Amino acid sequence: MSQSQQANYDDNNIFAKMLTGDIPYHKVYEDDKTLAFMDIMPQAKGHVLVIPKQKAVDLADLESEYAAAVLATSQKVMAAQRKVFEREGVIQMQLNGAQAGQTVFHYHIHLLPSSIHELGRHAVTQADSSELAAIAKQLAEAIAAQ
Ligand code: AMP
Repeated sequence: MSQSQQANYDDNNIFAKMLTGDIPYHKVYEDDKTLAFMDIMPQAKGHVLVIPKQKAVDLADLESEYAAAVLATSQKVMAAQRKVFEREGVIQMQLNGAQAGQTVFHYHIHLLPSSIHELGRHAVTQADSSELAAIAKQLAEAIAAQ
């Protein structure tokens, strides 16, 4: 992870622990600056999170090279979602601060194959792990084929 340390960044947040390998997750894609994985409480089938390997709490902290990297990874993931789920509509969402509803304080982009008119409730119902693993594999294969 980037050495750039934000003063208010908590090294014990759940996404930081994923980046250090201390917490399991269903990986979709990884490169030197980003990681993409399945949201454990999806608001839609195929809900993916993309995070930078930088200690950024929210958009205000994100360094431009990491901002470019998370968007590039988001494009790869969205292309895979469109292919795997055979739908054009994908929501890109990102919350800044608890007041906005942010619950994990490591910057992340949500990519949801859904419609704003159908979006499920935020971070409520945990999905079946084997189902997430199967979807992660499908998306990873679609990215590898790009
Ligand atoms: P936000 O409220 O925008 O900070 O979103 C945090 C997201 O992280 C929510 O959609 C949660 O469902 C998701 N989440 C929380 N814990 C985990 C985890 N262990 N693995 C994957 N996603 C998680």
